Amino acid sequence: MQRSFSTVTVLGVPFIKTSAAQFLKTLQQRILTHQNTFVVTANPEIVMYAHHNPDYHQLLQSADFITPDGIGILDGAKILNQPLPERITGFDTLTALLQWASDHHRSAYFVGAKPAVIATLKEKLPEDYPGLVIAGMHDGYFKDDAAVVADIARTQPDMVFAALGFPKQEAFIAQHRHTTQGLWMGVGGSFDVLAGAVIRAPKWWQDHHLEWFYRTVKEPKRLKRIAVIPHYLHLVRQQAKRR
Ligand code: UDP
Repeated sequence: MQRSFSTVTVLGVPFIKTSAAQFLKTLQQRILTHQNTFVVTANPEIVMYAHHNPDYHQLLQSADFITPDGIGILDGAKILNQPLPERITGFDTLTALLQWASDHHRSAYFVGAKPAVIATLKEKLPEDYPGLVIAGMHDGYFKDDAAVVADIARTQPDMVFAALGFPKQEAFIAQHRHTTQGLWMGVGGSFDVLAGAVIRAPKWWQDHHLEWFYRTVKEPKRLKRIAVIPHYLHLVRQQAKRR
């Protein structure tokens, strides 16, 4: 873990304690100085998955920054009496970096999501981010990493965004991050949202910390994600008692 931010450890996962704006500045600085960087944006589902899967937990420890993506992480930090200032979501970080890349002609590689989503992004990204240099794009349904990784190595993008869902995207990044001197970040279902295939909760729901509720109603298969929350909070309370 990078030491430029202090961290709050929730069930063995160290979250950076900073604002989204400060974090963004740090990422931009690292991109400009060609520092290899692995970012994980984690929610309670990921923390619980790591809790049950030591290999994945180990893999998370190799990240440079783990950000609190999800109100459940903020709740957990509060229970531990070490509050975190705000959520730093994968989607917001992705769009902020794309805007910055567009303004400064930086390059990005996009790997993940369904072929139709990638096809939409091929048209949409140049409209939305005209200055962005698209180093390459590949859908997330490949059997063998080799061709995609060779393409990333060849194009040397400033940023690689992997939208393969967890734990796949973190495994992919941990294995291949050293093929470039840039930023690698797992962004879950963000390409679907960017392409307009999935609608994000309106601002009111986000501001009232109810994005999870909105998205679950729209997409009931997400129910299994919030189902882990009670157990997660129970374990965090136990952690708080032990301290
Ligand atoms: N995905 C992929 N390859 C796979 C499995 C999933 O590219 O083998 C993509 C999927 O199309 C979706 C994303 O990974 O775009 C996962 O989205 P999900 O909503 O599950 O992730 P979240 O944002 O909740 O982490």
